[in-house]
Amino acid sequence: MSTVTSTNPYTGETIATYKTHTKKEITELLEKADERFYSWRETSFAARKKLMIAAASELKKNTEEYAKTISEEVGKPITQAISEVEKCAWVCEYYADQAEKQTANEIIKTDAHKSYVSYEPMGVVLAVMPWNYPFWQVFRFAAPALMAGNIGVLKHASNVFGSALLIEKVFQRAGFPKNCFTTLLVGSDKIEEIIENPIIKAVTLTGSGPAGSAVAAVAGENIKKTVLELGGNNALVVMEDCDMETTVDICVQARYQNTGQSCIAGKRLLVAESIAKEFTEILVKKVRELKSGDPSDEATYIGTLAREDLAKDIEEQVKASVKAGAKLELGGKRQNAYFEPTIVSGVTPKMPVFNEETFGPALSITTFKDADEAIELSNNSKFGLGVSIFTKDIDAAEKMAYRFDEGAVFINELVKSDPRLPFGGIKDSGYGRELSQHGIREFMNRKTIYIN
Ligand code: NDP
Repeated sequence: MSTVTSTNPYTGETIATYKTHTKKEITELLEKADERFYSWRETSFAARKKLMIAAASELKKNTEEYAKTISEEVGKPITQAISEVEKCAWVCEYYADQAEKQTANEIIKTDAHKSYVSYEPMGVVLAVMPWNYPFWQVFRFAAPALMAGNIGVLKHASNVFGSALLIEKVFQRAGFPKNCFTTLLVGSDKIEEIIENPIIKAVTLTGSGPAGSAVAAVAGENIKKTVLELGGNNALVVMEDCDMETTVDICVQARYQNTGQSCIAGKRLLVAESIAKEFTEILVKKVRELKSGDPSDEATYIGTLAREDLAKDIEEQVKASVKAGAKLELGGKRQNAYFEPTIVSGVTPKMPVFNEETFGPALSITTFKDADEAIELSNNSKFGLGVSIFTKDIDAAEKMAYRFDEGAVFINELVKSDPRLPFGGIKDSGYGRELSQHGIREFMNRKTIYIN
């Protein structure tokens, strides 16, 4: 028998020990999921909608219960865990309302009497998910998948099995038919055989590059579609004419919310040389004011990282960059899984805080002379998830947008996910899109119907 233990990264205490599913149990659960697919796909949109609205209501009714588990498992400040659960309710409501329209037949005029594209569910879809937003990452997949008529099977990160089981409970409490959504308690060593099972029709993964390529390789061998949402190294491009105070506030939120553990966080601040000194001073002052502490305290903004090894990683990246000549403006120290809010300036593209993803509360600052250099620096990354540009000259920023090698360009706003907009990246940030109409169609068969 194999077990997995989850630990509270703030207290260091064991939260729970979970017995993982055996090979036989995995097979049985997948068979039940497959069986459910054939009735679920016949269920009307009206019935699916009612259930998805009930899931949203359940999330709203028991927000605190869910948020508490998230906060304990990953050290997330409780107010941010509550916001995460509320956002899950939003995505459920959004797809409850939109799914039927988004997947309606698409008539295409041809020589035929009638021809169209029919959007049809694929079957059982596996979701391999990370711990940084343990509820949101899953609901972002599950709400569209279930509304499309697919069945969801979750392999969650091994440190958030409590959240994984609660998500299954949300759907049970909402009244979904059994096995529409199943949590598998397994380590990543079981993923290969799960993907190889013919019941699994497609896979979505959010997480690191190595996890993404391992999963995509197995899926590729088995001719199964994948959507990959991997890391990011987003730049915050601050032009000379920005509104300084507002821009600093947005940059602080873009980097430090969720204690910096977000793929779309603004990790590299690129600022016009002429305003760099003043901008940095205001920034350092505001970041110094961020309150670190007990994640269960409502006043806390910076919690711990989800695991101590992740805190060690970012400590090393900062240390190596300072050794290479960067200036430590703030922070830099670690205590167990806690890493201080940190700012390093004078950063060059050769330093780890610039050319690697920093998954924690450390912001790097690099200056540029003009817009061309800003774009070049921003694109100097193997990732391509998103970028923010801050300026009063909206026209110029909009014209610049196409020159960024990214999945998203946000002007005068942090890069954020919104159920109504497609979300995803290019380059090493992955492929495919989640959310919006684009997201729901990823796991659907676009069947051509031709009637002569
Ligand atoms: P991982 O990418 O390793 O974990 C994400 C998920 O993938 C987990 O469910 C994990 O399972 C699974 N997984 C890991 N390796 C494999 C594999 N070889 N085959 C199949 N599944 C696998 O994230 P880490 O926890 O290691 O975090 C490391 C880095 O990943 C972070 O520092 C950050 O850079 C990036 N990351 C990006 C995220 C994003 O939102 N894009 C989210 C989280 C991390 P298990 O937990 O059982 O290993």
